[in-house]
Amino acid sequence: MEQKIINGAELAKKVKDEVKQEIETNNLNVCLAVIIVGDNPASRVYVNSKKKDCQEVGIESLEYALPENTTQEELLNLVDRLNNDPNVNGILVQLPLPKHIDENMVIEKISPLKDVDAFHAINVGKIMIGDYDFLPCTPAGCMELIKSTGVEISGKNAVVVGRSNIVGKPMAMLLLHENATVTICHSKTKNLPEICKTADILVAAVGIPNFINKDMVKEGAIVIDVGMNRLPDKKLCGDVDFNDVLDKVSKITPVPGGVGLMTRAILMKNTLTASKIQKN
Ligand code: NDP
Repeated sequence: MEQKIINGAELAKKVKDEVKQEIETNNLNVCLAVIIVGDNPASRVYVNSKKKDCQEVGIESLEYALPENTTQEELLNLVDRLNNDPNVNGILVQLPLPKHIDENMVIEKISPLKDVDAFHAINVGKIMIGDYDFLPCTPAGCMELIKSTGVEISGKNAVVVGRSNIVGKPMAMLLLHENATVTICHSKTKNLPEICKTADILVAAVGIPNFINKDMVKEGAIVIDVGMNRLPDKKLCGDVDFNDVLDKVSKITPVPGGVGLMTRAILMKNTLTASKIQKN
């Protein structure tokens, strides 16, 4: 059973080690600015992890913790200031933002060259045409996890459950770039179990604990679980019923210990990439 579980921790360490080594070897100054607005506990955990990762790989991290009642204008002004600060290479605004702030407007304000989340429309468009500088962290992490299994993606049937702008849609696009035949499913999809069962590669990004069960999985499938759901007992749980599907799959990512760690590692890689693009 052990060999079925894709080791996200090991792969994330490898990515971070490469970033660290490149920074050390070339004596680079790389800096990531993280903005957090309000006191969402999950956002606080994510921001703390990002700071820890920066420290590990030798990236300077600046945290801007703004109060819940920060105005849209104040936030946009801060982003503008960071856009114009030559010492800042990457800007990340932790989502979600408080309801009175227009998330899209904030994302669009970030300079595409410093948009290490790759959420800006320019970066999204570049991903669409396959000519990009950054990939969004979670889908890029999923691709690395899939590739680590050694599977030939070309020609395989891939099913992505979820069509969010930050996970589902870019995930489908990256699989398409690797010549998979891709189906995107969502809440209005009919016959979801049947479609999922056609997947050689199944990516679940739904946000519902244990949503994917063994009746939705093809024998021998590779299953990537993006879900990060908090159960009432505070335990982290994926979108896939891990124990239920384990017998059927050839490979699967655990939660925790899978996609989440890779997402964090790719952010470090993107920040390093941003610093290199800005230098040129
Ligand atoms: P969203 O809520 O933005 O999107 C969820 C998607 O799932 C939507 O497209 C929705 O369809 C679809 N969906 C909901 N219910 C069903 C259903 N019954 N059948 C089929 N599809 C359904 O979530 P995100 O994409 O932002 O995140 C998904 C999960 O991934 C969450 O658990 C989140 O916490 C986790 N996540 C993990 C990350 C990591 O680093 N590991 C990073 C980002 C997210 P519709 O569009 O029709 O509403």
